[in-house]
Amino acid sequence: MVAAVRVHEYGGPEVLKVEDVTLPPPGPGEVRVRQTAIGVNYIDTYFRSGLYKAPSLPFISGNEAAGEITALGEGVTGFALGDRVGYVATLGCYAAERNVPVAIAVKLPDGVSDEIAAAIMLKGMTTQYLLRRTYRVKPGDTILMHAAAGGVGLLLCQWAKHLGATVIGTVGSEDKAELARQNGCDHVILYRQENFAERVKEITGGKLCEVVYDGVGKTTFMGSLDCLAPLGVLASFGSASGPVEDFSIGILAPKGSLYVTRPTLGTHTSRRDWLDEISADLFEVVASGAVKISINHRAKLSDAADVHRMLEGRGTTGAIILTP
Ligand code: NDP
Repeated sequence: MVAAVRVHEYGGPEVLKVEDVTLPPPGPGEVRVRQTAIGVNYIDTYFRSGLYKAPSLPFISGNEAAGEITALGEGVTGFALGDRVGYVATLGCYAAERNVPVAIAVKLPDGVSDEIAAAIMLKGMTTQYLLRRTYRVKPGDTILMHAAAGGVGLLLCQWAKHLGATVIGTVGSEDKAELARQNGCDHVILYRQENFAERVKEITGGKLCEVVYDGVGKTTFMGSLDCLAPLGVLASFGSASGPVEDFSIGILAPKGSLYVTRPTLGTHTSRRDWLDEISADLFEVVASGAVKISINHRAKLSDAADVHRMLEGRGTTGAIILTP
């Protein structure tokens, strides 16, 4: 039996139940991993609340973790006992041990600890595909990142700055504003107090942004469109404030022939060569020191419900790690 956090019915943080579950031996193409660090992500709250549906109930929560391989399933090649691996998996990560398909496992280089891996496999690979594949940020670009002090936010601001962009970030408090500045934000907007689209217009002298990265969703989507220069790209990649409401595609014409995409990490890592390319690029910027990882909250797996409360209450910054 292994300790895990399961959801039997969708709901608030209280539906996260700490339980002992049976773990079968790894199946063909799987490895068993003793997990040492588990990443917490906003997507974990979507699955818990039922905004995203799990394949079945009950399910083990959690979508990102790292640890050590302790058993190999049939037909596994390229991985050995004792290898350290990190992964993004659809569910099953809030557990002391789990079986992982090697198709999604990435070997961790020496410079990347298990804890760092659990903080960056999901948030950092997302940052990579947003900055390098969704819109390829180049020196001289001006970008807008919402929730700039969040898990993805702190990584994206640093990496975009490293690529030579001018970075504008929105944040929910003065403390978060300071943190965003320390992590590469050239301009910070307190979007609970100020109209962020008007501020972006002022900051850029009316030129606006080549790309807006919007993981906030419902409350920012329309304003984000107003922050884009002609032919600009809106990457609407999350819904922390709720799902984006339906809109008419026709509005993209007068706003400057804009592009809108709703990308997912799942699509961008759906091919093994893409997964390898994205993770290698991520490990490189981390190893070089260009992107530093802020793990600002650590908790025991059994405290997952409290951690969800804090995350949904906008009380966290940077990455959050659970340990079994
Ligand atoms: P964060 O650490 O960024 O936490 C969410 C932040 O959103 C909060 O801290 C808060 O920051 C802001 N926010 C704005 N409005 C609300 C609201 N009404 N309720 C709660 N929070 C709000 O989370 P993550 O880094 O884990 O994820 C950021 C976003 O990226 C999420 O939407 C997530 O779903 C998305 N995502 C998408 C992926 C993809 O591939 N499509 C992959 C990974 C993440 P503030 O107080 O500063 O406003």
